[in-house]
Amino acid sequence: MSYDAIILGAGAAGMMCAMTAGAQGRRVLLVDHADAPGKKILISGGGRCNFTNIHTTADRYLSANPHFAKSALGRYTPADFLALVERHGIAWHEKTLGQLFCDGSARQIVDMLVEECAAAGVTMLLAQAVSDIAHRDGRFHVMIGGKEHSAPALVLATGGPSIPKMGATGYAYDVARRFGLSVVQPRPALVPFTLSDEDALFRDLSGVSAPVEVRWNKARFREAALFTHRGLSGPAMLQISSYWQHRTAICVNFLPDTERDWLLAEKRKRPQAAVHKAISTLLPERLTEALLARIDLRGDLGNLRDDALRGVQSKLADWPFMPSGTEGFAKAEVTAGGISTDELSSRTMEAKRMPGLYAIGEAVDVTGWLGGYNFQWAWASGWAAGTSLPGN
Ligand SMILES: Cc1cc2nc3c(=O)[nH]c(=O)nc-3n(C[C@H](O)[C@H](O)[C@H](O)COP(=O)(O)OP(=O)(O)OC[C@H]3O[C@@H](n4cnc5c(N)ncnc54)[C@H](O)[C@@H]3O)c2cc1C
Repeated sequence: MSYDAIILGAGAAGMMCAMTAGAQGRRVLLVDHADAPGKKILISGGGRCNFTNIHTTADRYLSANPHFAKSALGRYTPADFLALVERHGIAWHEKTLGQLFCDGSARQIVDMLVEECAAAGVTMLLAQAVSDIAHRDGRFHVMIGGKEHSAPALVLATGGPSIPKMGATGYAYDVARRFGLSVVQPRPALVPFTLSDEDALFRDLSGVSAPVEVRWNKARFREAALFTHRGLSGPAMLQISSYWQHRTAICVNFLPDTERDWLLAEKRKRPQAAVHKAISTLLPERLTEALLARIDLRGDLGNLRDDALRGVQSKLADWPFMPSGTEGFAKAEVTAGGISTDELSSRTMEAKRMPGLYAIGEAVDVTGWLGGYNFQWAWASGWAAGTSLPGN
């Protein structure tokens, strides 16, 4: 049971790493405790897998070292993955903001990766728990389902703990720590916010969505926000959640497309119109009602003073929400933080202090925006390690 590399985790990054290394003649063992590979790929992108983003650049990733991802992302690009998708005859489309999806099903991406692994001679062991890992004589000895397997290289590709009910674990962190690598505190990212009782009014808007600009510190996103029975979700909120820190406010611009003094211009044009009617030409009626109830402003535009209207508009353009928290790892699309990039070579993903140990994908402290960026990191980091794994 001797291999050139043992890869733990048959998800996006693990399969990319395995097929790349296998294609270069490496003898690879790919192991997963789940009974099927790529389960997160199957549920991704609403079942259609947003497999990459053509606007991928390192500044669309969060990491303690913002430069770390550049090398891998620059060497395995969205065009490279797209070429693979096209070679397999998978139809795709660009949805919005550079996000590429399958026309059919995410299953096609999993099947493609499994086929590539098989063609590259990768041995896949599924539904097998790893019970022990030891390192001696320059080799990793891994106990899997009661049998020992060994290789000079071990790749950690078990992802992060988001969505534990799908089998996600923090196992990569445990192994990394055991070999002396540091881990940046993992936290849920791309996750809905919960609202406190103070903002309970907004929970009644469950199902209402609006195009907004949301800001936290220097991060800002122009996308849809969705009110839920627990708080705030939708792409804009998921994006900003990755940056947000507890006990701070996020600011929402509910009127991102209006000119300054838009309400005054409306007053001149339609003085008899009620203020809430004017605003609900841009925002859903129920949301307008909830916001104006908070401001406590009623009446026709013509009867309201200019400074009151300016005040309303600036309030709607800079609305603070103080989330009580997030829905946590149970609902987080990804985990931010993870194995510290200080520990790894950005070119090969190999641990500097523990030669032969590699970490790729979500297990590493590199977290993408919503929109195909996380898979692109999984492919790029998997490829970087896969092309670097040494042979005999
Ligand atoms: C609902 C949802 C939708 C998403 N949609 C998108 C999208 O459309 N586009 C996008 O870019 N990203 C999306 N993501 C994020 C994306 O799925 C992840 O970033 C990506 O899967 C990470 O790849 P990975 O290989 O590092 O980890 P994973 O794909 O999570 O793979 C890790 C593998 O390791 C296995 N494993 C875990 N612990 C152990 C253990 N102890 N022993 C053995 N095996 C283990 C798991 O079973 C799993 O197969 C989505 C995530 C979720 C939850």
